[in-house]
Amino acid sequence: MNDGNPDTATAARAGVDLLCVSPHTDDAEIACGGTLARFAARGRRVWLLDLTRGELGSNGTPDERWREAAGASAALGIAGRLQAALPDGFISAERPEQVAAVAAVIRSLRPRWLLAAPVPRRHPDHQAIPALVRKAAFMARLASWPAALPELRAWPATAAIPAPAPLWICEAVLTVCPPGERPNLYVDVTESWAAKLAALRCYATQLERADGARPTVINEPAFLDQVERWSRAWGFQAGVPLAEAFATDQAPLLEDLPAERWV
Ligand SMILES: [Zn+2]
Repeated sequence: MNDGNPDTATAARAGVDLLCVSPHTDDAEIACGGTLARFAARGRRVWLLDLTRGELGSNGTPDERWREAAGASAALGIAGRLQAALPDGFISAERPEQVAAVAAVIRSLRPRWLLAAPVPRRHPDHQAIPALVRKAAFMARLASWPAALPELRAWPATAAIPAPAPLWICEAVLTVCPPGERPNLYVDVTESWAAKLAALRCYATQLERADGARPTVINEPAFLDQVERWSRAWGFQAGVPLAEAFATDQAPLLEDLPAERWV
């Protein structure tokens, strides 16, 4: 979409289809990796943005986690991944430099859809992410608000990071729907479940409780079973084996009856 501005009209052809923003590596894969892999398999240009390097993580160094993220990105089949160096544990929509960092990446990658992950529960960074992403999406529209790209590392290392457009308007902004709440849309991830699991297996420092590892919620041996139970529960609601679910305060504007079925 564009606003009639020739700069953004040109950018629309160069932009990515979906950008998923998360605080830490592995958040997006756990919450919505099936969706990312499914859309990528359909030829969509899917990118991830990790906001922090995970320096406060209980296990794994930032460099180990970045190497794992590279493997997971390849397993998902996504087009690219960026990682900023915002302060782990202190993600906040109230800090202008953090809003600017996300807004600048939005203006650079120019996504149609913007997705905040993971489920906003428990970890303070996870609780902060929906508000930060919504605010950055709005501020990215305001050409009079300057936003410079933050320090970033990229996967693949050769990935070109375009200069930010003067402004960018995302078509849709979505969050991952918490279990038990009412989603606005489901994605059938039955076909892409194997890719999601392959991506999760890349995160050995996070999801495996090796000797000497500090115990966490996600290296608890039953955690991956829980992830699958969530998707089976969404799938039960949607009438497919496995689904992921999302929420948004927007609604699509139709020009015809959609091809998608309603559940
Ligand atoms: Zn996280």
